[in-house]
Amino acid sequence: MHTGSWQRVRLRGSAVAILGGLVVIQAGCGANAAGSGGSGSEARLQVVTTVSPITSIAANVIGDKADITGVVPEGTNSHTFEPPPSAAAVLSKADVVFINGLRLEDPTRELAEENKNDDAEIVELGTMVLPESQWIYDFSFPKEEGKPNPHLWTDPLYAIRYAGVIRDTMVGRDPANQATFQANYTAFQRKATALSEALKQDQATIPGSKRELLTYHDAYAYFAKDYGWRVIGAIQPENFEDPTPREVATLIDQVKREQVPTIFGSEVFPSKVLEQIGRETGARYEDTLRDDDLPGKPGEPEHSWLGLMRYDYRTMIRGLGGTSAALDALDTNDVAPDQAEYPQ
Ligand SMILES: [Zn+2]
Repeated sequence: MHTGSWQRVRLRGSAVAILGGLVVIQAGCGANAAGSGGSGSEARLQVVTTVSPITSIAANVIGDKADITGVVPEGTNSHTFEPPPSAAAVLSKADVVFINGLRLEDPTRELAEENKNDDAEIVELGTMVLPESQWIYDFSFPKEEGKPNPHLWTDPLYAIRYAGVIRDTMVGRDPANQATFQANYTAFQRKATALSEALKQDQATIPGSKRELLTYHDAYAYFAKDYGWRVIGAIQPENFEDPTPREVATLIDQVKREQVPTIFGSEVFPSKVLEQIGRETGARYEDTLRDDDLPGKPGEPEHSWLGLMRYDYRTMIRGLGGTSAALDALDTNDVAPDQAEYPQ
């Protein structure tokens, strides 16, 4: 990527004006329009994304029609992530910045606002597809803190809508590639719908229809609502530390009472508390769910939003005693070559 010395350049006194789609650069400015993605220009559009599931959805829709760079490394806590100074340089070159929104990436958003080009846009996918009246607040994301549960991408219905916003944004920026963005979107929408159908088939095999989730990281609130699951608890408080002994005791009682066979931890957040709850209740502790860390390595087929969600649904359904034949049979290959940069 572009790592040369970079300086924030401010164009004072409104040297650049955009009038009816025409970029007018006043004499004496000397600025170079390359990289602004004007139609007919050779410059490739620069797309910046945040968490890896969003990077993957963007890569499916955009394919090789733009450079895509993620800024949130996989395996880090995206909820507390503070972008390093080097991210400012990446954001300064962006034409479009796709973030989840719903206040997940406030520090990255602020850095983008401070450093972006005047004609670059920040697109908050989640905030665009979910009206505020439907934001979910819960134990890990209490209303008093003002930050709703941001995990829309674990629900295929919303992932499809993210892809739709990405398509529309890209068509606006690069109308010459409209047919590609549309075809990729349609192919992605079909695959995400097939994932959704396989999920419905396999979740029906869970004995007693006990679609109950006790998770550490609270990443399935919207998914649960749309697919008829019940989140019986999440253990991670809003400060991303461990719950109090009293809260743990309450959860232990609940797991015993509801005879939950498996409790789910997250790969990114190892939890001694879940281990303890497992020991004291006899529930199996399955510690490999992942909400924004794709399986495999960049370039491998499973390293994708489709691979991520297939992995999680399969883990949840099998953990609760069901079978995953439909999910197993699913083709999770991306619809377009994924050349995005995923920081590790
Ligand atoms: Zn998360």
